[in-house]
Amino acid sequence: MKCALCAGRMEKSTIALPYEMNKEYMLVVRGVPAFVCRQCGDSFVEIEIVRELERIVNDARKDGVTLGFIEYRRAA
Ligand SMILES: [Zn+2]
Repeated sequence: MKCALCAGRMEKSTIALPYEMNKEYMLVVRGVPAFVCRQCGDSFVEIEIVRELERIVNDARKDGVTLGFIEYRRAA
């Protein structure tokens, strides 16, 4: 896979992604599988992982979690 910004080479890695909305919640999901550009550091997350992230964040908010870190894990 090539970087959309600089056409550099992208490698599989994991990143931390922040999710926040106004002052309602501020959650950071860690260990998210992503492709990271070796040249410019831009990252790309696959659409099914983005959907999973949204599910994880929504579940946390339903549990009343509004601040903190969550470890990424795939649904069983
Ligand atoms: Zn790049």
